[in-house]
Amino acid sequence: MDERSTRNGYANSSIDRADKERPRMSGNEPDARFVLVSGERALIELTGGEHFKALHDRGETIALGGDPEKSVFLGNDATGPVYGAHAPQTDGEGHPRVKAIDMRSIATQGLLPDSELALVGTAKSLISWHARHGFCANCGAQTAPSHGGWRRDCAACNAQHFPRVDPVVIMLAVDGDRALLARGANFIPNMYSALAGFIEPGETIEDAVRRELEEEAGIRTAQVRYHSSQPWPFPSSLMIGCMAHAETVELDIDTDEIAEAAWFTRAEIAAMMAFEDGQGRMVPPPSAIAHQLLTSFVEKEPILPEPAAQEA
Ligand SMILES: [Zn+2]
Repeated sequence: MDERSTRNGYANSSIDRADKERPRMSGNEPDARFVLVSGERALIELTGGEHFKALHDRGETIALGGDPEKSVFLGNDATGPVYGAHAPQTDGEGHPRVKAIDMRSIATQGLLPDSELALVGTAKSLISWHARHGFCANCGAQTAPSHGGWRRDCAACNAQHFPRVDPVVIMLAVDGDRALLARGANFIPNMYSALAGFIEPGETIEDAVRRELEEEAGIRTAQVRYHSSQPWPFPSSLMIGCMAHAETVELDIDTDEIAEAAWFTRAEIAAMMAFEDGQGRMVPPPSAIAHQLLTSFVEKEPILPEPAAQEA
């Protein structure tokens, strides 16, 4: 994995996905372990101090309301097979050391080892895909899970359906010593981030970066550089981080999506990242790819796009 990607939360899975084993994996192996998710929460167990674990053995899984028969096979780690399963939120009832915690909080607070956070995210994406794809998009008949949970099959028309991943570009427009940050209409107060948007059919990553910056901020950009990527399990995006060199800097903001956008200097962004901004402005936490784009900008990493050479 790219060195920059490994700084992003949900991105550090060390599991062998073992595609060839998927058809025969049932969740009934005695050494099977499970990550348990409930909507956007994961059931994690306090193991001492402030440390949590996400993996539960088969007995714990059943005690917590998970059903091994309805699990998805995530792959093999050094100990054995690992699955994801839905479980109701116990709120600790009968299991005082188990907490149902929002996955964004788990990532922000660093409650799980990176590899377990990645497993929780994968399980979340797959389980919510199954929950939303009970019927065939081709003929409308009921579908059934197969291939260890990595496919749904329609017996009526023989269509095979695969879990989808939605590519999203998230990009920092750069103008020399300044970068463009924005507040989304739905952000918490004082939070600023990079702009982002879904890639549309027929677009390259670079096209999508340029279109989104033009639509949302009214600026034109030229050179686009890939930075890193991050699986984002809400419900199943892949965030593709980029840097773009701004050709124009005057902003014309799409007020349907953006509450506020502005150019910030390196020094201002560094202060926001360190919670030292005089106005209390902040940026997303280190587990978010937006934070890592800003880190590269503030530290002047070689990834930064260069202004186009002026024509003589
Ligand atoms: Zn069908």
